[in-house]
Amino acid sequence: MASWAVLEQQRVWISPRAVSFTVVCDACAQIAAAEGYGASTVHGTLPLDAQRGSIECPRGHHLRVERDGR
Ligand SMILES: [Zn+2]
Repeated sequence: MASWAVLEQQRVWISPRAVSFTVVCDACAQIAAAEGYGASTVHGTLPLDAQRGSIECPRGHHLRVERDGR
């Protein structure tokens, strides 16, 4: 019932010193796999002093970004 909402809350980890990064959106990866084409990567940026943030993929999925390590 609420599983779709859970699916939409993705979390991705980036390396401690990453300012710009490219991650895979799982939801898009599933769509791309089902349709046989399409991109699933998302490009984002996060300031070095930020521990977390959020980005949106081209299809509108929300991804929480968390900085790995400390
Ligand atoms: Zn997506």
